[in-house]
Amino acid sequence: MKLLEDRIRKDGIVKAGNILKVDSFLNHQMDVKLFREMGKEWKRLFKDAGVNKILTIEASGIGIACVVAEEFDVPVVFAKKTQSLNIDGDVYSSKVTSFTKKKVYDIMVSKKYLSPEDRVLIIDDFLANGCAVDGLSDLIVESGATLVGVGIAIEKGFQTGGKVLRDKGIHLESLAIVESMNDETGEIIFREQ
Ligand code: 5GP
Repeated sequence: MKLLEDRIRKDGIVKAGNILKVDSFLNHQMDVKLFREMGKEWKRLFKDAGVNKILTIEASGIGIACVVAEEFDVPVVFAKKTQSLNIDGDVYSSKVTSFTKKKVYDIMVSKKYLSPEDRVLIIDDFLANGCAVDGLSDLIVESGATLVGVGIAIEKGFQTGGKVLRDKGIHLESLAIVESMNDETGEIIFREQ
């Protein structure tokens, strides 16, 4: 999606350790007008998937997912990150290793908000090694719902997550795929899509 690529080129900052900072428009300050264009693009790409629920993970996926949910006219659920899982059985849970914080944490969704009739589209800001999407997929499997696709704003194509999901046959739509980036020159190269 050219609009997003142009914005990343203009305002993205490449940090050491394969981190791309997009705080000024995506995941700290948020450009909702841009999110709306992204939502329209995902609506076009997943129009035949029968999506009836959007699932994301707190915190940085929530803003984008809300706009996408409005576009599809369906509810949005976010998985909560938690230190102490409540164990009385009323939640679906999984574990995620954070790419940016290098920590393992539990994620959970109340059983009230995912069920077998749900056709779920996962939305997140970044795809790196795929741990966040894997954890969210676990919750969907546990609930008996169907994962119909994954929408990612920025995939870092030089990390493994995208290939693993595509090899599994999951319908993945990343609006921008960074092929390479250089923290010394600041150069960012996108994959042709
Ligand atoms: P994964 O679980 O795919 O390894 O990493 C994806 C998660 O880590 C996303 O939810 C995102 O919040 C965070 N993340 C991964 N790489 C980056 C990055 O380069 N920049 C930022 N801002 N977040 C990232």
